[in-house]
Amino acid sequence: RVDLAMYQAKAAGRDTLRFYDPSMHALANERAALEEDMRAGLAKGEFELYYQPQVDHGRIVGAEALLRWHHPQRGFVSPSVFIPMAEDSGQILPLGQWVLEQACLTLAQWACDPQLAELVLAVNVSPRQFRQAGFVQQVLATLASTGAAPRRLKLELTEGLLLHDVNESATRMTELKSYGVGFSLDDFGTGYSSLSYLKRLPLDQLKIDQSFVRDVLTDPNDASIVRTIVALGASLGLQVMAEGVETVAQQEFLARQHCYAWQGYLLSRPVPAEPFVALVRGHAPA
Ligand code: C2E
Ligand code: MG
Ligand code: MG
Ligand code: MG
Repeated sequence: RVDLAMYQAKAAGRDTLRFYDPSMHALANERAALEEDMRAGLAKGEFELYYQPQVDHGRIVGAEALLRWHHPQRGFVSPSVFIPMAEDSGQILPLGQWVLEQACLTLAQWACDPQLAELVLAVNVSPRQFRQAGFVQQVLATLASTGAAPRRLKLELTEGLLLHDVNESATRMTELKSYGVGFSLDDFGTGYSSLSYLKRLPLDQLKIDQSFVRDVLTDPNDASIVRTIVALGASLGLQVMAEGVETVAQQEFLARQHCYAWQGYLLSRPVPAEPFVALVRGHAPA
């Protein structure tokens, strides 16, 4: 448990070096154990997709699929801990494929229900997953085998991933886009300052990182950054979605900037499929 807390501290970005120095060996062992648990846990059904509603102009228009790991001994392990580990070890490839498959199965189910059929499901894609040979074919094959409609699927990518090789990224995206798959740029504003790449990529959406939304009412810098991203999105013809909206005041600020798409605890935390569907039904206009 202590060692796991070390990972969590590390994931939170705190300076943990001093604290861990004497136990680097234990840390490596702990890491190997968790990696092995991840491998086994996927086969044992310990992973589950949660869904966080995404709102546009006051209506739930979709959800972001967020991975959860219920470890039998350790309890709930945060994705900010196990996703980076999975990315390092390569375990993200089977894990990411599992996520994509579950998401597409969910979409295929929703398609049978008029109240759910129009929802778009956003899936996070990690750099290693996106760059693997055959990624495009894998997504297309998963859509085909599950019967999910490509235009209901949105892939969330990050700047670092896209900039690694902009031409190759654009090629992959363009191909998937020709089938109707959408693309969102996640955590926007936290990465690179060069914006010229934006027009070279077939994006649909920018997601304002939650770190700017958090203090938008009290920090004038965050407020300007949010305004700038909204203006940038408008001028590039991209939808702008805010993440991490927790208060009515934040949502009202965003609306004043003409940003009407958001997700956050204000409406709901990420929840399992069933309560998510209940939320959509309860939220739908009578
Ligand atoms: P992300 O894609 O930026 O996801 C948004 C994170 O913000 C989620 O954390 C979500 O639960 C959290 N969040 C949403 N609304 C609020 C809010 O109002 N306040 C606050 N404080 N937080 C909010 P989560 O689920 O812990 O996921 C963390 C990160 O792990 C994700 O960041 C994403 O980068 C990664 N991740 C999660 N699931 C997957 C997955 O299936 N595949 C990949 N590759 N990465 C994933
Ligand atoms: Mg995301
Ligand atoms: Mg994000
Ligand atoms: Mg993030």
